[in-house]
Amino acid sequence: MIIPIRCFSCGKVTGDLWEKFVRLLDEGYSDGEAMDKIGCKRYCCRRMVMTHVDLIEKLLKYTPTGRNEKKLEMSRTAGQ
Ligand SMILES: [Zn+2]
Repeated sequence: MIIPIRCFSCGKVTGDLWEKFVRLLDEGYSDGEAMDKIGCKRYCCRRMVMTHVDLIEKLLKYTPTGRNEKKLEMSRTAGQ
């Protein structure tokens, strides 16, 4: 979802590394090279960035208010 701000194991700040990591991957670096470039040396921190799945953009499509609007719309059409 959202990249965790700190590594769960050692507490190093990882929240700022995600965008740099993705940019380096787009430039053609391998995962390991990109990790070294952004200064992510420990394997606990590497797993935080490497295994992250950025779902926030997809989840923003399904807001609770959107669901309520759909329910209201359905109840309106059912009443007619
Ligand atoms: Zn760590």
